[in-house]
Parts: sequence; C-alpha cells; structure tokens
Amino acid sequence: MAVRPVAFKKPQSQPETEQPQSDLFDTHPEVRLDFKHIRAALKQGYTKPFLLVDTSLIRNKIRRFKAALPRVHPHYAVKANPDPRVLKVLIEEGAGFEIASIAELDLLLKLKVPAAEVYYSNPVKSSDSIRYAAGKGIEWFALDSVEELRKVHGIKPDARLYVRIEVPNVGSDWPLSGKFGMKAQEVDAIVAEAAALKADLAGVTFHVGSQCRNPENWRVGIQGAKRVFKKMRLAGLQPRLLNLGGGYPVRHVKPIPSIEKIAEVINHGLRDVPQNVRVMAEPGRYLVSDAGYFVCRVVGTATRSGKRWMYWDAGVFGGVIETTEGLRYDVQTDRQGKLIPWNIAGPTCDSVDVCMRDELFPEDMQEGDFIYIANAGAYTTAYASQFNGFPLPEVRVV
Ligand SMILES: *Cc1c(COP(=O)(O)O)cnc(C)c1O
Repeated sequence: MAVRPVAFKKPQSQPETEQPQSDLFDTHPEVRLDFKHIRAALKQGYTKPFLLVDTSLIRNKIRRFKAALPRVHPHYAVKANPDPRVLKVLIEEGAGFEIASIAELDLLLKLKVPAAEVYYSNPVKSSDSIRYAAGKGIEWFALDSVEELRKVHGIKPDARLYVRIEVPNVGSDWPLSGKFGMKAQEVDAIVAEAAALKADLAGVTFHVGSQCRNPENWRVGIQGAKRVFKKMRLAGLQPRLLNLGGGYPVRHVKPIPSIEKIAEVINHGLRDVPQNVRVMAEPGRYLVSDAGYFVCRVVGTATRSGKRWMYWDAGVFGGVIETTEGLRYDVQTDRQGKLIPWNIAGPTCDSVDVCMRDELFPEDMQEGDFIYIANAGAYTTAYASQFNGFPLPEVRVV
C-alpha cells in the first residue's frame, strides 16, 4: 500500500543558545495521528483542505495531563479548536473550559456544560457580554485593570474575580505578554479597589505564552501569584483560585519539555498552596494539536527572480497562519526530490498571504501534490476565514 510521506530534515535555523536549558528537554514519546488514517480519508476524495482529528489522542492527552498534574483541573481553551466533536470528548473526560467570548459560551451550553465549569478568562469584555454570561450562570471572570473590576462588579456584584498578572514569555514560540497582565506594582491598586468595593477578588492567573518551551516561566508565575495572594489576605480578601493558564507545548521540529518535566516545576511550586485554593490550568494547544494532521494541496508553482514559489490551497487565511510568527511545523509530502528552498504562499491575492520563506521542500513539487502538516490540530481551522472566496477547511474525525 501507499508509503508514509517524507518528513524532511530541516536545518536548525536557531542557534542552540536561543533554546532554554537543554536538560529540561526529555525524551518522553509524544503522539501523532497514525498516517494510515490520512490515506483512508483521501480515498474518500478531496475537495478542500481539511484537518483530520483522532479524538482518542485527545482523550489520551487530557489523561496524561491529569496524571502529571493531579492537583490541577484542566479547563480547555476553546479557541484552540472549537469543533463540537473535540469539545464532546473533553466533556466526557471531565474537562472544564475557558472562554473569551459569549459565542464560545453558547457553544458549550448547547453541549450541556454546566456554566459553573466555564471560566471567562478574557481580561477585557464588553458590558453586554458580562451581563449575558452572568445571566447564563458564569461565576468566575478574569480582569487586569481597575476599569474592568468596576465594570464587572457593577454588573454582577457577587462575581468571583481573578486578576491576570504578567509573567515572562521567554522561550515561548507565540508570546502574549504586553497585551494582557498587570505588573506587580499595579496589582496593589486593584487589590485596594476590590477591598473598598467589597468585590470578591479571589484568584490570580497568568499565561506564560503559547507553545512555551521554558518550564521556568510557570515557576515565576506561581511565585508571583503567591505574592498577590499575600497582598489579598492583608487587604481582607479571600484568595481561593490559582489559574495556571495555558502554554503547554507540543512537539513540532524543536525539542520541547514534556508535560511531566513541566509538572515537576509546577507540582513543586504548589506544595505550599493551601488546600482551599482551587488550582486549574487552561491548556489549549497541548490537548488537541498532535491529534490532527492538516492536509492541503499545491495549486501551482512559479519561479520569480530565480526563487521557487509554491502556492497552496490553504494559506494564512485558510489555517496555516502560525508559521508567520515563527512556529515551524513538521511538513511532509509524497515527493522524494532534492530539497531546495521554496517560498510558500496561500491561494489568495493578498500580499500578506505568505506562510513561509526559504523552507526546504523537494524540487519536484507540482500542482496537485498533497501537503501533510503534522500536529496541526490547534490554531489552524479555528483561525481560518473565507477571505477571497476560498472555502473554510473542514474538520474530519477518524
Ligand atoms: C489562548 C489561551 C489559552 C490557551 O493557550 P495554549 O497556548 O493553547 O495552551 C489559555 N488561557 C487563555 C486566557 C488564553 O487566551
């Protein structure tokens, strides 16, 4: 039968020194969708790009997460992949959820998730969204400004609130710091305001940055949270939520610390966190990424000023966007030709629609060839639009 496609040896583009301490990486086997499922799916035909997901891998990932972090309740970050079949498996496995919008809330309520299991982790929300979520029974709301504290408290005086603090995003492939998170000295003002309003500011959260390959960031985040807890108690507040956020990495081409390695750091940090504090995390990528292959196709090739260009039917607007921020996927094809540098673009006419530059692919790539992107179950289909009239990629389930 058909052979496995070719995974190319990619050159190391980053110097070794850029990577976090190498002793943090270990060799726990990471999973990947069995390629025979791709061959079977393609036998049923191909009309547009698709993500093929094996939900049993998602099941295994959440079990592994819980085993490594027995004190931590996983709340899946819906944005990573909101497909209802993905959500259903996570519901069956007892996951809670983290949302950024009321549309994500509605999706969960339709699947009969109790509102109390859903945490509204977007630090800045419209008044209408807060009112809607409160009406549906959401209890916990994130914030990182005095303005948002007053806003949420004004709408729902008994809301339980958790403050997002800033932590280093060093070693994350997709840093988030800068947009959200309070600095240590800014937290005092929010603690004082909560005490004055008698608002139930009861938790701390942070996000180490997505695809975080540096476990040290969680240690720093937990330490920062403990300092905020102390300030809260001094102000008469009752801290009882520690939310470790997301960022747990999956393997692509760079080495990663396994969840077990990260758990050593987290579990150590949790030793002196009182038992009445609920500890949760918000894994997104970790739970779904390696459960899926993204499959698309070459629509044409060209040579411009001596440079080879390859155009795929899914680009920046069709699901292959994380490459533009430096994420390097393991991309495979069925060709065996000599590897040469290609520029890879999507099918739209927008000049932004360039996924990769100077990536090695076989020189004999042609129209109609399939492209197989491994471990692409997160932040692919979820990002896609129908810009320029190209169809949304579909999610298929094994
Ligand atoms: C996106 C997001 C997550 C999930 O991040 P991953 O890197 O996919 O684990 C968790 N929490 C919040 C608040 C987020 O915005």
